[in-house]
Parts: sequence; structure tokens; C-alpha cells
Amino acid sequence: MSLFQKEKNSTLNTQHSTPGARTGALVIDLHNHTARCNHAEGSIDDYIEKAIEEGIDIFGFSDHAPMDFDPRYRMGFDEMSAYETDVKRAREKYTGTIDIRLGYEVDWLPGHMDRRVLASDVDYLIGSVHFIDKWGFDNPEFIGKYEGADIDGIWQDYFDLVEAMAKEGKFDIVGHLDLIKVFKYVPKTDVRLIAERAMDAIKSADMVIEINAAGYRKPIGEAYPSRELLIMAYEREIPITFGSDAHNPEQVGYKKEELHKLAKSVGYTKAAHFRNRDRAFAAF
Ligand SMILES: [Zn+2]
Ligand SMILES: [Zn+2]
Repeated sequence: MSLFQKEKNSTLNTQHSTPGARTGALVIDLHNHTARCNHAEGSIDDYIEKAIEEGIDIFGFSDHAPMDFDPRYRMGFDEMSAYETDVKRAREKYTGTIDIRLGYEVDWLPGHMDRRVLASDVDYLIGSVHFIDKWGFDNPEFIGKYEGADIDGIWQDYFDLVEAMAKEGKFDIVGHLDLIKVFKYVPKTDVRLIAERAMDAIKSADMVIEINAAGYRKPIGEAYPSRELLIMAYEREIPITFGSDAHNPEQVGYKKEELHKLAKSVGYTKAAHFRNRDRAFAAF
């Protein structure tokens, strides 16, 4: 049985014509930041120019949404409307050349979720776990906490948070599913057992998993998620999408062929993209 049969007739983007639509295959990249989050460089135009150069057809901004915790690494609530306006203007400006989408990457941190973000008028929301009990585990500043810690326990805590995020039902995409591997502290327990409940929750929430290139730039040196977790996703018919997770324009499109190859190697042929929180699929 082929995947996503029910979406067969909605695979192509019908409202806008995109360059790749002629061949039927589209290059999708939905996870990209801008200087607005205070730890990325480059303007919206810089990112888009690089995306065009890379042959990307659907390019989404998903800058770090504001939150009342860790405000240094994200835009403020008072910047949301300027961010959204800037991306929408770029969408107009580049119509016919590249299809620009608007989103946020939202931190899943219980007690700190904000309606202004969750109800924002965007194409999609990426839900990401960057904190375990307020420990920014992917920040090199706080890497010391791994030393002598119960790595299996940390991994389980991380995937329990991913599970809770999926159950919340507010997000379209799971950001970098196994980010906890970033510094290469890997568990003794089979990762598939640790991730199983999170995977089932992602399936029940009808979320999409992104294949994210940022891991290639980190000590782990591979995409998020690993091939073994991607196989679990495929077995559950969980859809995928793609993201550079670029924090500067040069990172846009980095290793995108490897990401496609990885997805194809487990059987995927289509990737998801979103407009106004509606999902469609395209061959990649
Ligand atoms: Zn970031
Ligand atoms: Zn992230």
C-alpha cells in the first residue's frame, strides 16, 4: 500500500505556480531563522536569495517564537507583527520566483506557552523541545550537565516531553525529533524503545516530522532524526518535511540532497508543506 493515498489529489500546489511544479518534484525547506532571534545572522532577503540559488521551491521562515523564558534567544512579543509583515511582504515580492511561507518554531516548555503564539495567523507551527526542566540541553554553554549524568534517563525525559508536546495538539511539525543526540551522548537502551510513546503520540496528533540538516553541523554529524527513528515514522505512516534550520544564509540548502536521499532510503517519496495550517504534499 502506498503512503498517503488519501492525499493523492492534493499533492500539487494549485494556488500558486512554482518553478518545480513543471517536473512534479518540489524542493521544500520549512525551517529557517532570521537575525530577529538574536542568535542568527542575515535578513529575510539574504535567506531567500540563497534559497533561490539552491533551487528551493517552497521556503519557510520559522523563527524562534517569543516566550517569557530565555528571552535572549528569540524575538520579543512586540516584534511578532513586524516579523509576520516582513515575511508576507517578501512573499509578495518573490511571487513567481519562490513560494515563501510563514511560521514559528515554538519551544515546548510547559507553563510557558502563550496564546499569542499558538493562535498566530501563520502557515504552520513547528513544535520543538529545547529544554528539559529549564535546562537548555542543546546549548554548548550548559554541556557540563551531561557529564556523569544518567544519559538514558535524560533521553527518556526528552522524549517524554516530545510526547507531551504532540498530545497538546497545537503544532504541525515536530522540530528536530532527536535533538537530544546533539553532543553525542547516546543511551545504552535502544533508542526505538525510548522514542516509542512519542512516536505513537506524533501519529495520533497527525503531525509531520521534519528531516533537519542542523545535526550535520553539530558534534553528532548526522541529520535529525536518525535513520532508525525515520524507519519507525515510515512504519507508522507519519509524513515528513525538510528543514535547513539555517541560522545564517549560507546554511540554507546545506546537505539537502543527503536529506532527500535519507528519506528515500526508508521509502518516502513525498514531503509535506503548509499554507494557513492546511497540509499538502509534493514529490521531492
Ligand atoms: Zn536557533
Ligand atoms: Zn530548534
